[in-house]
Parts: sequence; C-alpha cells; structure tokens
Amino acid sequence: MKLYNTLTRKVEEFVPREKNVVRMYTCGPTVYHYAHIGNLRSYIMEDILEKTLMYNGYKVKRVMNITDVGHLSSDSDTGDDKMVSSAKKQHKTVLDIAKFYTEAFFNDFKKLNIKKPDIIEPATNLIDDYINLIKVLLEKGFAYFSGGNVYFDTSKLEDYYVLTNHKEDEMVVGVRQGVESDSNKKNQADFVLWFTKSKFEDQELKWESPWGLGYPGWHIECSCICMKHLGEYVDIHCGGVDNIFPHHTNEIAQSEAYLGHKWCNYWVHCEHLNDKNGKMSKSKGDFLTVSLLEEKGYNPLSYRLMCLQSHYRKQLVFSFENLDNAEQSYKKLKQRTLSLTDNGVLDENEFNNYKNLFLKFLNEDMNTSSALTVLYDVLKDGKLSDLTKKTLIKSFDSVLSLDLLTQTTVDKELEAYVEEKIKERQEAKKNKNYELADQIRNELKEKNIEIKDTREGTTWSLIK
Ligand code: AMP
Ligand code: ZN
Repeated sequence: MKLYNTLTRKVEEFVPREKNVVRMYTCGPTVYHYAHIGNLRSYIMEDILEKTLMYNGYKVKRVMNITDVGHLSSDSDTGDDKMVSSAKKQHKTVLDIAKFYTEAFFNDFKKLNIKKPDIIEPATNLIDDYINLIKVLLEKGFAYFSGGNVYFDTSKLEDYYVLTNHKEDEMVVGVRQGVESDSNKKNQADFVLWFTKSKFEDQELKWESPWGLGYPGWHIECSCICMKHLGEYVDIHCGGVDNIFPHHTNEIAQSEAYLGHKWCNYWVHCEHLNDKNGKMSKSKGDFLTVSLLEEKGYNPLSYRLMCLQSHYRKQLVFSFENLDNAEQSYKKLKQRTLSLTDNGVLDENEFNNYKNLFLKFLNEDMNTSSALTVLYDVLKDGKLSDLTKKTLIKSFDSVLSLDLLTQTTVDKELEAYVEEKIKERQEAKKNKNYELADQIRNELKEKNIEIKDTREGTTWSLIK
C-alpha cells in the first residue's frame, strides 16, 4: 500500500515494522463540545485507512486518546478554559461534560459506520505516566523548570521542525501571532509539559506532581497513551492537518527525546473540511453536527459518501448543494444494490479481477473516488450475475461501510412488505405453525428488520 507521508513529503510504500501487524495511533477529540462534521471527515479518512489495511490482510491495533484535560489549542491560548467554561454554562462538572461529549462522539461514529479504535484512553487516566516521562526529560536535559511550569527545550534537538518542511521562521511567526509571549521560556518554540501556574483562574482538574499541584500540557497525553499501548514504535500516526504543528511536532520532539530513537515512521494527515468562512472549527460555534444533518432529513451515510468522493488530501468545501447531490447519489446507489438478488453463480475470476482493481485504487494513497468508480462498474457490468455483483459489493462495503446491502431506511414499499409478513406470521401462529413463524422472523431479520410481540400487537423497526 502506498501512503503520503507528511514526514518525508512523499507518497511511499507502507512497510510496518512487524510483518502483518500495524500499530496505528489516531488523535482523538477534545470533548467540550460535539464533534463537527469537519472533525468527522478526519475520522472517516482514518476509518478508511484502518479498513484498507485490514483488507490487505494486516492486523491493525489502533489506539485513540480522549482529550478531557490539557485542552488548549496551544500553550499560549488565551480566553477561557474550554472544558471549564462548557461545564459552567451547563452547571456540570468537567468530567460530566467529558463523559457526555465522549458518548455523543461515539454515537456519531456509529451513525457514520466508523469502527471504534481497539483502545480508547481518556487523558486523565495516565497522569502518573506523564509525570514519569517529564521526569526523564528533565534528567536527560531536554526539559527545564521555569516560573512554575516545566518546559520542553526545543533548542536541544537537531531538528525540531522535522514535520513542517523546516520553515522555522514561518512556524515561529505562526506561534507568535495573536498570542501572549511567555517570558519563562528559553526559546520561543519551547512548550509546556506541566503547568502549575494556570492562566485560568478556576482550573478544576489538578494533580500533585514533583513540581507542584498542576496539570499536563496538551501534547504529552498522545505521546504517553501511544507508548503505553503500542510500545516504543508506532507505524502510523494520524490526525487532521491542523495537528501537524504544533501538536504532532511536539509529540515527536518529546517522544524521541525520551526514547532516544525514531518513534513513528508514517504520519498521515487529512485536509480540512471548510465552509464558506474557512476551516470548520469548534471554537467558531455555528458548526454542523451529524445530528443537525439528521434533523434536516439527511442520512449521515450520504455525508460519508460525500467524503469518499473526494481525496482526503484535498480541501473539501461543504455546501448543502454538495450534500444534496451526495444524498441523491446515495439513494440511487442503494436502490440498485438493494435490488440485487442471489441469482446466478459466483464468477470467481471476475470477482478477483474487480476486487484487485478496487484494492489497487485504495492502495494508491486511499484513492476512494476511483475505488467508487469500480463499484459503479460492477453494477453496470451486464456479464456479471447478481450473485457475483452482490458478493463483490459486500466485500467492497467492508471498507466503504455505506450499508450498501442493508435496508436502513423505511419507504412505502418496505412498509407494505413488512405488514404483509407480519400478517402471514400471525396466521402461522394461529395455526400453531411455529416453525413458519420463526422462519418469517428470521427472513425479516436478514433484511435488517426486527419484530417485537407486545400486548398491543406486533411492532417492527430497523436494526441499527
Ligand atoms: P479536536 O476535537 O479539535 O481536537 O479535533 C479532532 C480531530 O479533527 C483532529 O484530528 C483535528 O485535526 C481534526 N479537525 C479539526 N477541524 C477539522 C476540519 N475542519 N476538517 C477536518 N478535520 C478537522
Ligand atoms: Zn494527539
């Protein structure tokens, strides 16, 4: 598989350190608000990456953090602490807020058919690990204590800007823009590993440490969570492009200073989803969520399709017109896939040809739009039996995850069909033909429909 590696700025052949096993880390959400569909574009890309690796036969071990502390966009963030102000507004504790938005986040995962990572670790779980790592950095001379905080000394590294094309001047200007400068730092680019001097008056979560009561910097959580669960080496580290600097740059600095060797070989970043005002962002407030799209009558999977129609390394501009088009395409596509029967024989040659073509596109740095054209070619191919088409689509959908063979929406036709089946089942039960009644229940289940017998009669719903 070929992947664009931000570290080398090249599309490269992906080779994991251990044969057939991929260690993958993906930066998780800051849980002071709902995820917006921009965040979810990055998670859809990571889902496709994980599933493509699995499609290639790799075993993937994937870890994700939940940022429930250390919630700054940079050390120089001004304004309110986002978790605390969200908690205050809602008269809840910070951890209640974190729990609520973490659940909401994984609910969105479900709606968008994004696989949950194998390990999900909230940042507040590993405070002792952060303290240990910081102690080692101090011992090795990569960190210093100043003005109540512990800082990472970026001047101790040969190449701090390894991820960012060495545009040192530009990056430093970027850091300075519109933020307070911190006179405790030895170098402008240094960053906080542990705060005891909070710039926020009522910081709710604080822990004892050798440097006093305080809380960790933002970047340390990802380094520690990743090392704890994946060991000293990680194959792929992902996030949105805004994570490249300072977050991932600082993760590399502190992890490699701690370990004394290269840490991660491949860095994969998803370009932004923009709206007409630029990057969609949580702090802007009026952003779009999956629930909002649903309230407006859209199927969340239409948004997934919209993301797959473009390349993850290109910016994507969101508009309702684009989403309408994706929704139309999705409906038409499902009409065609759901009408396929099990008729005919499975043509193994054709199955392999199409599967290889589909995989070839995915393996070209996740070219999902070309992979989708293979799906349409399968549907159009007059020589293929329905069974071959259906088997191919089932296989493709293990990566695309568009529920192409599952009934997920109710229309009049489906309603009439289910009502008819329920009547048949009642008739069967009346005649004590329980075998037939069970058979009908199973038939419906195969079509993603669940029936329940209640005192008021039989009810039904789609299984999700
Ligand atoms: P956050 O919850 O802000 O820490 O962001 C979670 C993930 O979403 C990170 O990987 C970000 O890089 C990514 N992200 C943030 N905004 C966007 C956007 N507009 N488009 C795509 N990804 C984004
Ligand atoms: Zn991270």
